[in-house]
Amino acid sequence: MKKLLFVAAIALMLGYGWNALKPAGSDENKIVVLEGEPARWEEPGSAETAMLHIDPDEAYQGDLLLVNSRHPVPKGAKLPDVVNLFERPDLMEGIGVLDNSVELPPDLLRKFAAMIEAARADGVDQFLITSGYRDEEKQAELYERMGADYANPPGYSEHNLGLSLDVGSSLGLMKDAPEGKWLEKNAWKHGFVLRYPEDKTEITGVKHEPWHFRYVGLPHSAIMQKQGVVLEEYLDYLKEQGRIQAEVNGTAYTVSYYSVKAGKPLSIPIEGSYELSGDNMGGVIVTTCEAGSPGAKEAGPS
Ligand SMILES: [Zn+2]
Repeated sequence: MKKLLFVAAIALMLGYGWNALKPAGSDENKIVVLEGEPARWEEPGSAETAMLHIDPDEAYQGDLLLVNSRHPVPKGAKLPDVVNLFERPDLMEGIGVLDNSVELPPDLLRKFAAMIEAARADGVDQFLITSGYRDEEKQAELYERMGADYANPPGYSEHNLGLSLDVGSSLGLMKDAPEGKWLEKNAWKHGFVLRYPEDKTEITGVKHEPWHFRYVGLPHSAIMQKQGVVLEEYLDYLKEQGRIQAEVNGTAYTVSYYSVKAGKPLSIPIEGSYELSGDNMGGVIVTTCEAGSPGAKEAGPS
């Protein structure tokens, strides 16, 4: 799902990468979002520019896929490889699990565990994972048992993507517990977002769920936090702007939106390291990270 390539020779030589970017770690982090910056691509063929070929299928995979009542999980989507949380005690320090049926993609679990490590450093440590990846069968069973007010039909839940999880606290309801408050304030620093906030129910179509967290990755989670928008609004915003630039904790990013048409691959010039994700609506978001930005220089191996 995640594509990490260095197309610039300089980035290759420096040998650091997207994954190595440190999540923002303190409250002093500044997000600077400059809207509508003009394109500044170098001409294809210059030393540090390469052509990136985007297959139309890319619109239906990646960390930014929108899944809601109007946009089901894409047909034929590759099911994520998942692991039962009981099989990874090494990643579960300080995290409880509701029962032995909870599964998550290992990559998502690692990202979540890294976030919880930061919470533990703040003295917040009573987390409990109550639900993770659900295949269609699990979702159908839940839908039947809980009803349409509490569960989505199979194929229409983010849990079917393997990018979301439900998190509880052993100290009480998430809306009141320190665990819920900590995540609401800090999840964005680690690439996660509170997917269904109280003041966005008309946009998401889902009631306030203080337990449901979705991974979208940086810089997207930071921009969404700064703008106060949910995924539906963020994707609309990207489509409308075409290209935005963001600086998160000293690292400069460019986020570009492209519409793709079935059967018509796109070629765009690109520099530095990049990440691709579809939006599940016929668009592809290309996020590039400036190899020479201060945050990237500071980043170590992860
Ligand atoms: Zn959920």
